[in-house]
Amino acid sequence: MFENLKPQPADKILALMQAYREDPRDQKIDLGVGVYKNADGITPVMRAVKAAEKRILEEQQSKAYTGLAGDPAYADAMIDLILGTSIPRGNIAAVATPGGTGACRQAFEMIRMANPSARVFVSNPTWPNHLSILNYLGMETVQYRYFDGETRGVDFEGMIADLKTAKAGDVVLLHGCCHNPTGANLNLVQWQEVVNIINELGLVAMIDIAYQGFGDGLEEDAQATRLVASSVKRCLIAASCSKNFGVYRERTGLLMAISDDAAQTALNQSTLAFLNRQNYSFPPDHGARVVTTILTDPTLRADWEAELEEIRLSMLGLRQQLADELQRHSGSDRFGFVAQHRGMFSRLGAAPELVEQLRADHGIYMVGDSRLNIAGLNANTVPILAKAIVDVGV
Ligand code: PMP
Repeated sequence: MFENLKPQPADKILALMQAYREDPRDQKIDLGVGVYKNADGITPVMRAVKAAEKRILEEQQSKAYTGLAGDPAYADAMIDLILGTSIPRGNIAAVATPGGTGACRQAFEMIRMANPSARVFVSNPTWPNHLSILNYLGMETVQYRYFDGETRGVDFEGMIADLKTAKAGDVVLLHGCCHNPTGANLNLVQWQEVVNIINELGLVAMIDIAYQGFGDGLEEDAQATRLVASSVKRCLIAASCSKNFGVYRERTGLLMAISDDAAQTALNQSTLAFLNRQNYSFPPDHGARVVTTILTDPTLRADWEAELEEIRLSMLGLRQQLADELQRHSGSDRFGFVAQHRGMFSRLGAAPELVEQLRADHGIYMVGDSRLNIAGLNANTVPILAKAIVDVGV
């Protein structure tokens, strides 16, 4: 029977990584996969993560199963990090998941269980895996306008017009901060407008927050999520610790379902536990335990926050340097958006032929939609990139 299987499309970003590795040129720059890298091109284990792992190694007495929702202390610590005191704890159902991807997957399954005909509105563009998983689950998706190819900011009018076509029960998927792949984000006034539409039309909000602390700061990056969660009747939040704790391979995420009704929250909690049970039973624990150890220990937490801030500021510095170099080479301000974008990515808005030309002629690898990973740069490669971008005629 296995001969009936059809080849599945390769993940474009992973294929790009492979092509980069196989490129024999010395002078090449990898701006593809969404992993933070320091100036030496290394994705370091954060100091607080190392310290927490040491502590766990010494103190952990058992590897027996946790609960289906994971360790409740992890959910508590993450809820505090993401939502602060904006929502009463009793209104939040939460389960640990294998990464933010696992959280998204469980959220989509919960939506499908609750309302098989719900359509999921996703930004155009969005993280490709959103669409891929939704398609795999047979769920209907609608893309709402998001990126303005001219300004490289948000096409807010287009977004609002498209969201207004949603019907009660449809889901609106939003990136809590640091939009992937564009780097373009809503301001809080615009978020409020989106919230108003969600409430007016009876829509369900879903937030994917995978880069808290990579944009304007830990608290700042959570503001939109808190605003939505505290203003709508029901909402799902998929969170990832992969980036802000640097625990990518440990698969550390959390899915929250918020409602303003205790009986509904209990039903949400049991549904989320059920979904974990069906898919993988107990969620991974190591990364979650590391995160909990850090968040609940004032010294480790302060060190983690300090290192995260260093990472954030280094990316902001690279953005500014790139914007300045682009201005110098092009003699125009048309690349100012690079400094305005937030998070690890910026979408250049370059045609696929130019992206290909950057790879072929300059050894510069970015995703085909012209998303570049700012953290793939360093002070020496920024001028090379800026010159190449202007040379190919972006
Ligand atoms: N959502 C978004 C928007 C992302 O960019 C990512 C990571 N690429 C994820 C979710 C999932 O991250 P992970 O599963 O590695 O935690």
